[in-house]
Amino acid sequence: MNKHRIDPASLSLSTRAIHGNKLFPYRGPVSLPIYQTSNFRFEDSEDAIRYAKGDPSVYVYSRYNNPTVRDVEEKLALMEGAEEAALFASGMAAISTAVFAAASSGDEIISTPALYGGTYRFYRDELPKAGIRVSYVDPERLDTIESMATAKTRIVYFETPTNPALGIVDIEAIVEHTRRAEKKTGHKILVMIDNTFATILNQDPFAAGVDAVVESATKYLGGHSDVVAGVVLGDKEYLSRVKSAAKSHGGCADPFAAYLLFRSLKTFELRVRRQNENAMTLARALEGHPLVTRVFYPGLPSHPAHATAKKQMTGFGGMVTVEVRNKRTASPVKAAAAVCDHLTIAVNAMSLGGVETLVSIPVYSSHINMNEEELRRHGVTSGMIRISVGVEGVEDLIADFHQALEYA
Ligand SMILES: *Cc1c(COP(=O)(O)O)cnc(C)c1O
Repeated sequence: MNKHRIDPASLSLSTRAIHGNKLFPYRGPVSLPIYQTSNFRFEDSEDAIRYAKGDPSVYVYSRYNNPTVRDVEEKLALMEGAEEAALFASGMAAISTAVFAAASSGDEIISTPALYGGTYRFYRDELPKAGIRVSYVDPERLDTIESMATAKTRIVYFETPTNPALGIVDIEAIVEHTRRAEKKTGHKILVMIDNTFATILNQDPFAAGVDAVVESATKYLGGHSDVVAGVVLGDKEYLSRVKSAAKSHGGCADPFAAYLLFRSLKTFELRVRRQNENAMTLARALEGHPLVTRVFYPGLPSHPAHATAKKQMTGFGGMVTVEVRNKRTASPVKAAAAVCDHLTIAVNAMSLGGVETLVSIPVYSSHINMNEEELRRHGVTSGMIRISVGVEGVEDLIADFHQALEYA
């Protein structure tokens, strides 16, 4: 009998993403069974009492918990180095529930301004109705967090790299200034990051002192453009509040979506590593093209925050944004549209993080209906094309962009 035991947390990310905590000795299926059920039978009424007393091993109803969903939560927590994880029906369900678990009427959130469009609209349109105020800190002046924080501040929220301009926010600086703000206010402030763009392969927020991570699992974690899901990660105390809020808000993950995510995670490290490599190669190939005015990629030495990116990222991710200038067309936005319309491999579609390369024009998609001032704050210009680099042969992608740029 093999007596050898290993701590799953000691293993590499790739191994954790494949095996989770199901290591020797473990008897059961090799792939993940789908518990496609809304509810669970109690063995007897004692079982119901055990559940009511808080025994987490008793399954009751799939909005509360489901074994397929639970396995994915355990794997994600292990992969990301968190005590606990909660899986949701979407990234926005994860983000909204994470916020409502930490803030209520009268409370305040301090956020960096360049946010995912859905989060920005949630903050702008929904939080005021709940009496929660969001104020925006200049990412170049993170020290002002200390003067902005009040007795009502509950969350300091940020994204890095940002969408779509791929700006970099200094994670250690956010944590440091929030901890100083806590000394002033005398209460705990949750530092929360949306780590969707970088993923845990490229950026480890917990190691930098962040308290909670939210992610759209629809993107790199899912990776195949076939599942919508989200996750919140953090310590047990906060996650118990998130799970309790999740019961009421109802954004629970579906078992089949959880299964797809679990399957995708097995190749997470392979996919994202290749996306990092392809993005770097494509960014280099497009930088210097006569019709490309700027390439935004944190891995390029020309990126204004390349040094910070190098400090806090182990890879620079699969997102590259280019700004094109018009030659044949009448304006930069028309040039961006013409390029997207002439690509034959890269797909013109919203979303990101899948194995297929996608392009989108921010002013026509994620940042539509924003005024000039909002666009400026988000760092969005009209000639921008956001590229979510996939895992295709990079020489094919370079050739595709070169031929399509002829139409700019
Ligand atoms: C897509 C995305 C979200 C929202 O996730 P959904 O799964 O679409 O709800 C949040 N943050 C970022 C950075 C995203 O890219």
